[in-house]
Amino acid sequence: MALPVSDHPAVDKYARHINPAFVKLLGAFGYGRVFVRASGSRLWDHEGREYLDFLAGFGAHNTGHNHPVLREKMREFLLDDVPNLVHVGPPVHAAELAEQLARRTGPLTSCLFSCTGSDAVEAALKLARAATGKKTLIFCQNGYHGLNLGTLSVDGVARMRELFEPLLPACEQIPFGDLSALERVLSKRQAAAFLVEPIQAEGGMVIAPSGYLRAAHDLCRKYGALFILDEVQTGIGRTGTFFACEAEGFFPDVLVLGKALGAGMTAISATLTTPEIQKRAFGTMERFDLHGSTYAGNSFSCRTASAVLEIMDQEKLTDASKTKGQRLTQKLHARLSGHPLVRDIRGRGLFVGIELGPTEKGGILHRALPKVVEAVSRHIFGQWLAVRLLEDGVIAQPASQQWNVLKLEPPLTVTDEEIDTVVEKIGKLLDQYREVAPIVRDATERLGKQAVGGWRFG
Ligand code: PMP
Repeated sequence: MALPVSDHPAVDKYARHINPAFVKLLGAFGYGRVFVRASGSRLWDHEGREYLDFLAGFGAHNTGHNHPVLREKMREFLLDDVPNLVHVGPPVHAAELAEQLARRTGPLTSCLFSCTGSDAVEAALKLARAATGKKTLIFCQNGYHGLNLGTLSVDGVARMRELFEPLLPACEQIPFGDLSALERVLSKRQAAAFLVEPIQAEGGMVIAPSGYLRAAHDLCRKYGALFILDEVQTGIGRTGTFFACEAEGFFPDVLVLGKALGAGMTAISATLTTPEIQKRAFGTMERFDLHGSTYAGNSFSCRTASAVLEIMDQEKLTDASKTKGQRLTQKLHARLSGHPLVRDIRGRGLFVGIELGPTEKGGILHRALPKVVEAVSRHIFGQWLAVRLLEDGVIAQPASQQWNVLKLEPPLTVTDEEIDTVVEKIGKLLDQYREVAPIVRDATERLGKQAVGGWRFG
């Protein structure tokens, strides 16, 4: 398949020098857009079309695109002759941010900074092995924690892992939500840690059963393993509490943050733990430098993250996530309930998933060919809806490892009106697809049209 044609120079350059397969894929459905402007919950492409962003950088833009206060703070910083990356003294802005975080994280007042979510999870794994002296790392099926070699070893999605094996030894996978399986591994192995997400986001927006996280934490305590909670996507107000674990009234041994901490503006992540665990892992002069990296905790990123926390408080964005999330979920239920291809609508705060697939309300085709309906919903429907929504001015994506679940995670600054608009657009679109046949017909027709048109990008 030839590369898609486009009149924007970035398309060809990106394809030639970065990721040709991605550009081809965008061209296959006519998905391609080059985005050139962003503000709040909105984006604009190079042809001047406007979009509501309900993907928000996979949950990085909790404070909205180009928040004016954040921009001003970043501008002030840049004009201030602040030293960056000196490395022979404690950096002022990292110290300030670590203290600000510690005010929110109960007993977890000790912090390791990194740049990406994957790096911060990797830091948590190293911390656990160093603090406990044990090796086994327990993780969940369908969990997603990043794509470097350490985090791939604890990702519960075989497709992402297989090409890179052998990965870290002593990693054990268990089903999500299964306490007996956890106890079985904990009792047999010398486990350093159990790593889990409160909501499996990329794994299909699967919410941990009520009480599961706390009980898993108790089991870890019983067997001397650390309980690591990956809140890279759920943290910073996304689920209607500042951290998802607060809804369950507890803090883990290690809490991992990323994405929204840098507001989509700068790469920063954090691994928080208790001073006691930090001391056991890295608290001696022989060990103080066993973890770190050049840009970790750089002043610009830390100052940006501090401003993000200030904005979250000043604008009460965690509360907004809760009330607006309720509105989003209720409106989706009202508009979509009874739809023969909508299996479930679930979420917390402004973190919502629509699961697509055959239901009992389906017609004869669903009953006669449930496997076909399932396969179409699993492999085509979510992506097809995302393309059609894009064409109607809404950016949303299926969960990256579970394409039958459409994820909605707008900036927490989203307005009621924007929520209502998106619900109506999703509703109207799903009105057209109450069966599988029209999905297959439309998607195939589109592929044919794109092929004839030389895979036009957009
Ligand atoms: N953990 C979770 C729960 C995530 O959702 C992600 C990213 N989707 C990561 C870790 C990895 O973060 P990053 O892409 O910044 O490395």
